[in-house]
Amino acid sequence: MKKYVDLHIHSTHSDGSWTPEMIVERAVKYELCAISLTDHDTASGNSEAMEFSKKLRIDFIPGIEISTKWCQGRMHILGYFIDYSSQAIVNLMKELQESRRQRVYKTCEKLTELGKPIDPAMVFEIAKNSKSVGRPHIANAMVKLGYVPTLQTAFDLYISHNRPAYVPRWAPEPQEAVKTIHSAGGLAVVAHCPVTEGCMKVIDQTPALGIDGIEVFYPPHKPHEIAKLKEFAKIHNLVITGGSDCHGLTRGEPLLGIYKVSCEVYEGLIARHNTISQNK
Ligand code: AMP
Ligand code: ZN
Ligand code: FE
Ligand code: FE
Repeated sequence: MKKYVDLHIHSTHSDGSWTPEMIVERAVKYELCAISLTDHDTASGNSEAMEFSKKLRIDFIPGIEISTKWCQGRMHILGYFIDYSSQAIVNLMKELQESRRQRVYKTCEKLTELGKPIDPAMVFEIAKNSKSVGRPHIANAMVKLGYVPTLQTAFDLYISHNRPAYVPRWAPEPQEAVKTIHSAGGLAVVAHCPVTEGCMKVIDQTPALGIDGIEVFYPPHKPHEIAKLKEFAKIHNLVITGGSDCHGLTRGEPLLGIYKVSCEVYEGLIARHNTISQNK
């Protein structure tokens, strides 16, 4: 029987709806042979996922998906085989958490200037049981203070992108994310590698960034785009990866076990990791 893998999955540790345990259970149910947990900007779900993967006998690659600054937008960089307790990862996560806290202060300042005063302490109190503080907690405070009727209204009128109290989130440079992943013993891969004409420039620059691979198999990628990316990977000696980017029930249909990536992709990634580990 042909075996499949999924190397791009989000859990409740970032914005997915399934816990790492639920993800492992589903992967086993769908008879996948390997998975990786790639939560946004956090590696905190890896120990739970690792524990259940061992219990249920499925291969597991510890991972992360780091958002980085790139031109006007973001480049997402996946880290595979990371030592998630390494100083490099712990420091990056601390830096990201601190920048989220600073963003709460700045957003509250803006809201106060707009005549909707909010004490940041209230936002932190609301967020005290969450893994990280974010805009939904600010929206919640605004509802509690009677400034807006719903969380959605807070976003629509004040804190979503281009609204008056929006504050952009800090993100590292791509080079910094790659360096962190490498320091943690991992491989750095450009997530959902862009294929549109305007973005080809981005791809052209990736080898200079020290990237090890590109994510080629990704639900929206069409066969001709996959072929183009494969060719690019071959020319630049980049490893190719793939996954569903499943967020459980929070973003469209959950594709874990449905979007199929061949086990050969996983084997290629392991081979690249072994080569790099041996050369150290
Ligand atoms: P943050 O990480 O602090 O930027 O917050 C991101 C979260 O805010 C997302 O995961 C969504 O849950 C929520 N969010 C972002 N934009 C909107 C929006 N326009 N409407 C409703 N919720 C949003
Ligand atoms: Zn996400
Ligand atoms: Fe992404
Ligand atoms: Fe993702």
